[in-house]
Amino acid sequence: MTSTRQKSLKWLTAVIFGAAETPEQRMHLTFLFIAPWGCYFSAVFDAAVGITGTLYVAVLLSIGLAVHALWFQARRSLRPHGMAALFCLLMLFVVLPLSWFDNEGADGPTLLLFLLLAAYALGAIVLRPWQRAALIASFVVVPTVLLITGYRHPTWVPTYADPQQRLLDLGVSYTFSVALLVVLMGGYLRRFENEHRDARDTARRDSLTGLLNHGAFHGILNQYELERPLDSRAILLTYDLDHFKQVNDTYGHAYGDEVLCHFSQLLDETVADYAGVAGRCGGEEFNLFIPYATRDDIVALDSRLREQCLKRPLRHGPVCFSGGAALDSAETFSVDEWLARSDTALYAAKSGGRNRSLFDDGQPMAIMPTDTR
Ligand code: GH3
Ligand code: MG
Ligand code: MG
Repeated sequence: MTSTRQKSLKWLTAVIFGAAETPEQRMHLTFLFIAPWGCYFSAVFDAAVGITGTLYVAVLLSIGLAVHALWFQARRSLRPHGMAALFCLLMLFVVLPLSWFDNEGADGPTLLLFLLLAAYALGAIVLRPWQRAALIASFVVVPTVLLITGYRHPTWVPTYADPQQRLLDLGVSYTFSVALLVVLMGGYLRRFENEHRDARDTARRDSLTGLLNHGAFHGILNQYELERPLDSRAILLTYDLDHFKQVNDTYGHAYGDEVLCHFSQLLDETVADYAGVAGRCGGEEFNLFIPYATRDDIVALDSRLREQCLKRPLRHGPVCFSGGAALDSAETFSVDEWLARSDTALYAAKSGGRNRSLFDDGQPMAIMPTDTR
């Protein structure tokens, strides 16, 4: 039963959204898909209850079809924004005046529809300043013109045959508007959630390489310090590119940036297999945090990284680096001391001739035969 419902829901969302992915695209497509049903329903309802004449019913049905065409085009082109703007213009200048003159002006549901449309048009559609100004002006001018016309020519605005008919019309319009408002609010909410998540992610990432930045990486270490189990097997590695200043001086800063990005990508790919995280903690200095690993794992990780550097060289040769690893074995643990130990191991590797990695007890990992750069 549930799976049938899930399948139908999946089918329906596939029909409405097509290949659209962003919450904004989906919100517009939902709006453009649902709104015409409101037109069809109003047309049938108005005809059945005898609120309006045949011409209004025919126009409303045509408008429903036109908006469905906009939805189809938006779904096909995956650019629902422009279609949503067209929809708003159609609503503002055609549907709402029609509804005004066929559904008792200010006493019918048109003002409610105006409010819904204003919330959609001004909140959900990204506009240039002049477009926004024109839209706000239209939202003031159109109802004002309608109000004045209705006041000056009361006979142009026919009244409902009886109060019950008016109540029914208002009730139906209110329910329909609330349904569309829910769609709108859902779209807003998802957009804000996404923006918030993107902003938080951007603040944690290094803008050049995309790795975690210094603050985010140290945040992970501090969290680890708080939750550290007594039998912890975590390992911290510090890597530093060899003679990087020379790389910059010889091939230019832009090439240096390319090297940093390339190395970061290799680090990221390698560390992922060890359930660890990589961070860029200085200019050409990187840290890895592996929550659970043996010395052999780290030797394997380091060799793999070196292999990848050799297998995937850049224009001026493979990236060369030195590394230092510190095991979390001390009973009295502090992040600063841990970082200092991996740093000391790194500098021992540098003094030992670079292009190698050492553990903090001085044990080598893998020494590459030659400085390949
Ligand atoms: P060592 O082998 O001893 O580590 O020598 P090194 O030249 O790599 O070290 P040094 O500290 O002397 O130089 C680091 C260089 O890294 C200097 C700086 O210009 C460069 N650098 C730092 N950040 C960036 C960056 O974002 N982009 C580029 N292209 N270079 C950077
Ligand atoms: Mg360096
Ligand atoms: Mg350095």
